[in-house]
Amino acid sequence: MSFPRFDNSFLRELPGEAMTDGPPRQVEGAAWSRVTPTPVADPQVVAVSAEVMSLLGLPARMADDPAFARVFAGNALWPGMEPHAANYGGHQFGHWAGQLGDGRAIGLGAMIAPDGQRFELQLKGAGRTPYSRGADGRAVLRSSVREFLCSEAMHHLGVPTTRALSLVRTGDQVVRDMFYDGHPAAEPGAIVCRVAPTFLRFGSFELPSSRNDVDLLRALVHHAIRQGFAHYGVEDTYPESTLASWFREVCERTATLMAHWMRVGFVHGVMNTDNMSILGLTIDYGPYGWIDNFDPDWTPNTTDRQHRRYRYGQQPQVAYWNLQRLAQALAPLFHGVEALQEGLAAYVTRFQADHAAFTTAKLGLARWREGDEALVESLHEVLVAGEMDMTLFYRALGDICLQTPQSDAFAHTFYDDARRQSAEPLLVDWLGRYVARVAQDDASVAERTALMHAANPAFVLRNYLAQQAIDKATEGDDSGIHDLMRVLRTPYDVAPEDAHYLARRPDWARVKAGCSMLSCSS
Ligand code: AMP
Ligand code: MG
Repeated sequence: MSFPRFDNSFLRELPGEAMTDGPPRQVEGAAWSRVTPTPVADPQVVAVSAEVMSLLGLPARMADDPAFARVFAGNALWPGMEPHAANYGGHQFGHWAGQLGDGRAIGLGAMIAPDGQRFELQLKGAGRTPYSRGADGRAVLRSSVREFLCSEAMHHLGVPTTRALSLVRTGDQVVRDMFYDGHPAAEPGAIVCRVAPTFLRFGSFELPSSRNDVDLLRALVHHAIRQGFAHYGVEDTYPESTLASWFREVCERTATLMAHWMRVGFVHGVMNTDNMSILGLTIDYGPYGWIDNFDPDWTPNTTDRQHRRYRYGQQPQVAYWNLQRLAQALAPLFHGVEALQEGLAAYVTRFQADHAAFTTAKLGLARWREGDEALVESLHEVLVAGEMDMTLFYRALGDICLQTPQSDAFAHTFYDDARRQSAEPLLVDWLGRYVARVAQDDASVAERTALMHAANPAFVLRNYLAQQAIDKATEGDDSGIHDLMRVLRTPYDVAPEDAHYLARRPDWARVKAGCSMLSCSS
C-alpha cells in the first residue's frame, strides 16, 4: 500500500529531549520527548469517523485492514510517524501545577492532507511517557467513547474542536477508581486517535515562561502561528506587531468558542489552562456534560463539586482568566503590556458580539434591540424556576404559533410536574412579552424559523445517551456507538425515525454515574 505523507514540523522546528522513553522526570529546555507507544494485547477498531478519514485522504476501506487497528493502537507505525510526547504545564483549578505534559497522549507526527493542510495525529491512552508521573498512560473505554463521539458531535454542531479519527479497543484491562472512593475496578481499555493542526495549549507557553526560557517560548509562538494562523504567512520568525495580532486572535477565537459552548449548552468540566487549545478548539474531553434542565450553576464534574469553578454559566469568565495567564506567560516577548491588554479587551468585545448574535438567533430575533437583555434574563429565570430542558425549549420556541402562543407546547420540556405548575404563570407571561417583541421585527415566519433551527440544535449528545452506548459497548456491542455516529451528523435536522434520541433525560439518569456525575478518572 502507499502510505500518507508526514511532515513532523513540531519535532523539526522545536527542540526535543535527547533521551528516549525512560522514567518520569522534569524536562527542561525541550518541547517534546521521543517515546515508544506500549503495545496492547488485541487491537480492534470500534469506530472510525468517515469524515476525518476523508479529510486526511485515507480510503474508507483502510479501516477494515487489521494493520489499521495496529497502527491506531500504537502497536505499529507507518513510515514517517515519529512518536513523541509534548511538554507543557498549566494552571489547574486556579493553581499553578508546574510541568504536566502528555502523560498518556502520544503524538505520531503530522499528516499532509490531500488539500495540503497539515494535521497532527495523537493517540490518547497509548502508554506511559516521561510526563506520566505516577499514572499508567492508559485510557478506559467509557472515556474514550465519550471523547470520540463528542469531538465529532461538536464538529457537526459547528463548534470548533479537535477531531477524532478512530476508536480502538486494546484488549487490555485498565484499573480505575471511578469516584476516587476506594473502589478500584478493572475496565476495558481503548485508544482514540485525535486530529488537529496543533495540540499546543495555553500551558505549552506557560511552562517555558515559568522557567524563564524565552527562546523556547518564542519558538513555540512562531510554530503556533505557522501551524494554525496561515494568514500571517510562513516565516522563520515574526515581528512583535504580528505577535500582538496573533494574541488578539487567540483571544477572539477563544471568545467565539465560549459563545458556542453557551449556545449549545456544553460544559467542558475541566477548563484548566492545559486544556485550552491555542487554536480556540474544544480540546480534552473528560468529565464534560450537556445542559439538560437549564441551570447556569451546573457542572458534571464531581471533582469540582465543592466550588463549581467550571460551571456552565462561568465558562466565559474562566476563559478570560485563562487568557490572562497566557498573557502573563507571553509578556517576555513584548515591550510593554498594551498589546496584551488590547488582546484581552478584544476577548470581551468578541464574546459580547458573538453571544448577542447567538442569543438573538436562538430566540429568532432579527437583531439585538434595546430591552432584549431583560427579555433574556427573565427567560433564564423561567427556565430555572420551571427546571425546563434547554435544548427542547429552544426547539419548541421555534415552532410555536405567534398569534396564540400556548404554554402546552412546552409540556415535554419539564422534568417535574410541581415545578411545571409553579412556573406556568411565569412562562405564559414571558411568552406574551416574547411574541410582542417578535412582532417588532419584520422577518417572515419562514426566516425566523430558519434562523432558530440553525442556532438551536435538536440533538445534543446528552450524557445518558453516551452512557447507554458505553454500557452496550462494555458488553461487546458497538451498535449504540454507530447509531449515535449517524444521529450526531445532522444535529439540526434529525430524521423522524431517530426522534427518540431527542427525548429529555429520563428519570433513571438523573443521579446515575456517567449520566449526571462524572469524575476526572478516565
Ligand atoms: P487531564 O485532567 O486529562 O487534562 O490530565 C491532566 C494531566 O494528567 C495531563 O498531563 C495528562 O497527561 C495526565 N494524565 C491524566 N491521566 C493520565 C494517565 N492515565 N496516565 C498518565 N498521565 C495521565
Ligand atoms: Mg488535559
